[in-house]
Amino acid sequence: MPANKRLLVLPGDGIGPEVMREVRRVIDWMEHRQRARFEIEEGLVGGAALDAEGTPCSDKTVASARQADAVLFGSVGGPKWDSLPFDQRPELGILRLRKELGLFANLRPAIVLDPLVDASSLKPEIVRGLDIIIVRESTGGIYFGEPRGVHTDANGKRIGIDTEVYSEDEIARVARVAFDLARKRRNKVTSTEKANVMQSGRLWRAVVTEIHKAEFADVELEHMYADNAAMQLCSRPKQFDVILASNLFGDVLSDLAAALTGSLGMLPSATLGAVGADGRRHALYEPIHGSAPDIAGRGVANPCAQILSFAMLLRWSFGMEEDAQLIERAVERVLAGGMRTADIMQPGMARISTAVMGESVVRELGKLSA
Ligand code: NAD
Repeated sequence: MPANKRLLVLPGDGIGPEVMREVRRVIDWMEHRQRARFEIEEGLVGGAALDAEGTPCSDKTVASARQADAVLFGSVGGPKWDSLPFDQRPELGILRLRKELGLFANLRPAIVLDPLVDASSLKPEIVRGLDIIIVRESTGGIYFGEPRGVHTDANGKRIGIDTEVYSEDEIARVARVAFDLARKRRNKVTSTEKANVMQSGRLWRAVVTEIHKAEFADVELEHMYADNAAMQLCSRPKQFDVILASNLFGDVLSDLAAALTGSLGMLPSATLGAVGADGRRHALYEPIHGSAPDIAGRGVANPCAQILSFAMLLRWSFGMEEDAQLIERAVERVLAGGMRTADIMQPGMARISTAVMGESVVRELGKLSA
């Protein structure tokens, strides 16, 4: 039996705790089958933490996150806290964790599972078998660059300012994550920017080219303007393997790629930090969706994105590729068997609850590993 793996579980608000419960079912199954042993600490984040601790992410939670091998995050926010001032919003909980743990590389796979090929907004022949991943720089760029703000000019007119700033080190470290990832996949990176009109884009292209030449010459590298990448994602998405992007372009391209797959309730993500001197790497795993207050408490949310986030955690934080694939295949088999939560319901399929989806995934895990 492998050694203990330390997890910090932060279910958050809305449907977060409901879908996290189904991950616990998967974890229980793994422990029962003696596939792994986990040491789990559960904490509060977001609105739940605001209510109980007066802050969306306490120092104690940050300390626990630092000590953990990986953080499994649900989602935060909801109407109860919508009227709070900006600096007290539940969403600051995740921003603080990203900043404190130095989580700079956001990985979002966009995979079209065969049973859900009709859920895509594109024609089945364009997306069938799609399996791409977007690596988005997530701690720099225009969302953080200074100067920023809304000022009034000499004529009394308001001016809004944001500044795109990237240092070569910031570009290099996220590029390395993309190249590394490509080596484990189909060995191709498409680096996106606007080198034609942005100075930071010129630097981005130059640094990615240098890192490629010096360290990853075996990986195929292609440069593409971000606007063209958006168009190509809609017309020929299967040409891509790993797409590398800045914070801003990655935000837009990853939402576009998510739309190709058809359902928010199915999409996991990982955010990784640098590998430390001790070989450890901070990492946080979360579904792409939010806390879905419109359906919270009704037991109808789709837990697959949260379960698949746990599969990513096994793969990236513990190198448990076989177990990660087992979970991914179990989810696919439940869908292939015609079971659907409301968000991915299709004619002729059986509508099931959050809990039944979790139970069904565990049942398939049992069959696949028998
Ligand atoms: P959302 O993702 O919560 O919901 C969008 C729509 O998708 C809703 O109709 C919802 O019911 C549905 N949906 C989402 N996840 C689902 C699931 N697993 N199963 C079934 N249906 C699902 O986005 P929103 O409505 O824009 O935001 C709601 C709250 O979540 C806000 O407070 C927002 O700030 C927060 N949010 C948090 C995160 C995060 O914690 N990382 C991310 C996005 C939004």
